[in-house]
Amino acid sequence: MKALFAAFSVCVLTLPAAAQDHRAIEFPDVEPYVTLVGDFHMHTIFSDGSVWPNIRVQEAVRDALDAIAVTEHLEYQPYRADIPHPDRNRSHQVATQSARNEDLIVINGSEITRELPPGHLNAIFLEDANALVAAPGEEALDPMDVFREARRQDAFVFWNHPNWVAQSPSGVAVLTDMHHTLIGEGLLSGIEIANEQTYSDEAFQIALDHNLTLLGTSDIHGLVDWEFDVPGGGHRPVTLVFAAERSADGIKEALVARRTVVWFRNTLIGRPEHLMPLLEASIQVAAAEYWSNSSVLRVSLANTSDASLILRNMSAYTLHESANLVTLPPHGVIDINVKTLESPAMITLSFEVLSALIAPGTHPSIRLEVYSTQ
Ligand code: ZN
Repeated sequence: MKALFAAFSVCVLTLPAAAQDHRAIEFPDVEPYVTLVGDFHMHTIFSDGSVWPNIRVQEAVRDALDAIAVTEHLEYQPYRADIPHPDRNRSHQVATQSARNEDLIVINGSEITRELPPGHLNAIFLEDANALVAAPGEEALDPMDVFREARRQDAFVFWNHPNWVAQSPSGVAVLTDMHHTLIGEGLLSGIEIANEQTYSDEAFQIALDHNLTLLGTSDIHGLVDWEFDVPGGGHRPVTLVFAAERSADGIKEALVARRTVVWFRNTLIGRPEHLMPLLEASIQVAAAEYWSNSSVLRVSLANTSDASLILRNMSAYTLHESANLVTLPPHGVIDINVKTLESPAMITLSFEVLSALIAPGTHPSIRLEVYSTQ
């Protein structure tokens, strides 16, 4: 296990008085950035999804997302006979109109939908999606020309579900020569490590090896509530973006700079330089007091994030009311009782965060300095 620690200090914590909206996806800001929640891969009936774009907007509002991109397939339009879609910007226009009274950033995107290689890739922040696809009856564009056009429009391009078994039957993401070329020419900047119901350690490693932005997306075609069991406490995969400002430009700058963490099935996945500050902002020592005449220190730990944080005790101390696992519920506070033996005024607690990954198979560790207030 990689020995990576973040030092924490005690601070007085104030939790919001209002009850938390259990559905809203909320993570604390990480100085000097705002933490924005985005889902940059989704479909509507303008390609092979089942809903009108306004439903994507309403789902996003309910999940309290900051930004979405509707990314219709450019080369796959199974409902074309019923719903002609000659203008490939139309889904984005309808979504934007639906969101006009909402606090939601709607980004223009499209899914370049080819056999592997290159497979499926999203181009987001497009100016004109029509320029990425041949006119009806004309020969398909060369994929390299499509990526160069996306670059010309200053779009951000990422590889979708590289582990998809329909294109990679082993389920293992492997870069092809074309992907190496795209990365080398600066035409491919990100990769989905989580898509809908799947996660890929191999894609995570590719991202680390080739300096690609980490993305997690819903790739929703039906309804978010049904696909991800939102009523039962589930959540869609999202990309947390650490942006200098809450705007489309702010998101694009942060994506280009690789400042993301993926949240997939309650696991936080990111590079240490982005994930550790997020954990530091999320876990706070709210209070610490010795039980009357004992040397057992009651430590209140608060979690200001939407993730349930599963911690494995690695401290020099054992715990009075649990074995070695402690779960910090989302937006909750728990007390743990630490057998300090000597009753010092300050102790250091160390935990491995089992519900987070800083590399494939590698959990980060955190260190908390706890000062007793009595
Ligand atoms: Zn898709």
